[in-house]
Amino acid sequence: MGEFDLIQRFFLEGQGRLAAGDEVPVGIGDDCAVINPTPGMQWLVSSDMLVEGRHFLSTVAPERLGHKALAVNLSDLAACGATPRAFTLALSLPRADEAFLAGFARGLFALAQAHGIALVGGDTTAGPLNICITVMGEVPRGQALLRSGAQLGDDIYVSGTTLGDARLALELFRGTVRLAGDAFESVRRAMELPQPRVALGQALRGLASSAIDVSDGLCGDLGHILARSGVGARLEADALPRSATLAAQDLALQRLCTLSGGDDYELVFTAPAARRVEVAAAAALAATPVTRIGRIEAEPGLRLFDAQGQVLPLALSSFDHFKS
Ligand code: ADP
Ligand code: MG
Repeated sequence: MGEFDLIQRFFLEGQGRLAAGDEVPVGIGDDCAVINPTPGMQWLVSSDMLVEGRHFLSTVAPERLGHKALAVNLSDLAACGATPRAFTLALSLPRADEAFLAGFARGLFALAQAHGIALVGGDTTAGPLNICITVMGEVPRGQALLRSGAQLGDDIYVSGTTLGDARLALELFRGTVRLAGDAFESVRRAMELPQPRVALGQALRGLASSAIDVSDGLCGDLGHILARSGVGARLEADALPRSATLAAQDLALQRLCTLSGGDDYELVFTAPAARRVEVAAAAALAATPVTRIGRIEAEPGLRLFDAQGQVLPLALSSFDHFKS
């Protein structure tokens, strides 16, 4: 199978009817895609690359890899409150493995269809397995949620109920933890099938003062909000939502996973304390639970507290690809 057959079969025909339409007059097949912007909206663009052995294990099912490659990108749009519009796919493949490509395309397009977005172009080459997706989305002018808006006294929230499960799964694969049966499968799903919080991000437009998605660990990613906003924070470490599986682990591991786990793709955001009822309504509208986990303070830096109000050491730092 040649490069053009591969593109045609898996990435043009594979996505069915989404490919062309009024919004995307020219999709895959020309030198560029042509997309009609919605009047009054701003475009948001973000790329994320997944490298085998670094961002995923070779044991992952191709369908889940297709899902995750798009999910981590949609998570960036979610963090900005954007409505997804389209995406491109740059793929480097060791060989044209049909079973791999069919599974990958299935997972990719199932998530694309769930968000009503088309694959509008990309690039395909032979090489080590490497997947780079660029997503495009839009927000009404001036309404993108940014890292820089957190204000003194704001509440801090995190979405979801399984913070840290993806890290627990990584520890399982590394062999430092053992889990069997359903518990193993549920944390593995958290790692391999993250659900981007797109509906929540949109519901928070005009309400959240800042937002970020958790890809490198809660403390590190919240730290980006603090640095960009020029504020500090108090975080209630034991208030962080976690699964029953993680809650059954020893406390040090629970804290490692929730505070600095990474790969969560939940949203961390801030909102004025006076708007708690509206935040709860936005979470309900998006069918996404959120938990209040701390407060923005004037003093720079992040301070962690346990359930008894005692200070915890901030030794748990964020995941950095060039350090570990
Ligand atoms: P060019 O050489 O002009 O850059 P290519 O031959 O690389 O174009 O690609 C032909 C068409 O197929 C283009 O429209 C391109 O966007 C699309 N394409 C290539 N690879 C992919 C891919 N992995 N997914 C989606 N579209 C792709
Ligand atoms: Mg060209």
